[in-house]
Amino acid sequence: MEREYESCAICPRACGVNRNAGERGLCGETAELRLSWAGLHYGEEPPITGAGGSGTIFVTGCNLRCKFCQNFQISHDGMGAAVDDDTFADICLRLERAGAENVNVVTGSHAIPALARGLDRARSRGLSVPILWNSSAYENPEALELLDGLVTAWLPDLKTLNPELSESVFDARDYPSVAKRAIRHMASRAPLEYARSRDGSAEVLSSGVIVRHLALPGRLGDTRLALEWFAERLAGTAILSLMTQYTPVEANPRARALDEFQNRPLDEAEYDSLRALLEELGIDAGFYQELVSDSEWLPDFGRAQPFSSALAKPVWHWKGGFAAGGAPQDSRSPTR
Ligand code: SF4
Repeated sequence: MEREYESCAICPRACGVNRNAGERGLCGETAELRLSWAGLHYGEEPPITGAGGSGTIFVTGCNLRCKFCQNFQISHDGMGAAVDDDTFADICLRLERAGAENVNVVTGSHAIPALARGLDRARSRGLSVPILWNSSAYENPEALELLDGLVTAWLPDLKTLNPELSESVFDARDYPSVAKRAIRHMASRAPLEYARSRDGSAEVLSSGVIVRHLALPGRLGDTRLALEWFAERLAGTAILSLMTQYTPVEANPRARALDEFQNRPLDEAEYDSLRALLEELGIDAGFYQELVSDSEWLPDFGRAQPFSSALAKPVWHWKGGFAAGGAPQDSRSPTR
């Protein structure tokens, strides 16, 4: 039982429900911590993937619920199974034993108290790799403080600074102000620091912030707003990761309601404009993706291997528990 779940205001939605009593707010989750998948992921940014892969843990539920979410099966539709603290710690330790460079908690904003407890249990049982927090940034700094002493590197999205867009896509007009505050909070706690990968062959992030921005087709003005803020407020203290993987998710019924940019990926001209924008703003510490033109990489969390075998190696799945197998390769497609 977590005190914070009693009248839940963990995130800015402030639903006020009693999750300890089994009630659900907008994130769709009670006090039980539920996960959908854990495994080594080879598609994160190079200093996150390192040589051994990132030890990703996908949390079920979401407090933002983007209508075009590529992970909608777990963020909207609740695919997942409950785990207790020791099972969560077991998963972290199995990831480390499998060679993970880090433990990378994906979309845990609505479950911070339970995750903080589980991560603390994993540390006390010997987990030694860095812990990363991979989120939408729709988070209260007071809740993020529960992760102090555990998380040392942060992968927040900066989805948009346009309140009209955030209202239409997330039903969260306050997303821009909330995300800016959360990211500043993260950057104030995490200077950029690197270490050698576990096999010594690569450089990995041990502390710091990588701000991820997904460019949307037809919305490059919104990307400009986000990148200008980054250049002004964070350049030199954080890294930018510009993602161009937006793909219409036909299987997601909510995405079909978004006629503005649902039907196509970015085109070549938009991609070239984004590269020029990075140059214009002088953002040179960061990453950008190659243009992705198909939807084959979209995950299916109904399978023990939601990704291609080139992209990930399963360690745990919500249906079958711990698994073995998978063959690591090299390919890039970040988890969010
Ligand atoms: S964590 Fe969930 S229940 Fe709590 S305020 Fe946010 S959306 Fe509502």
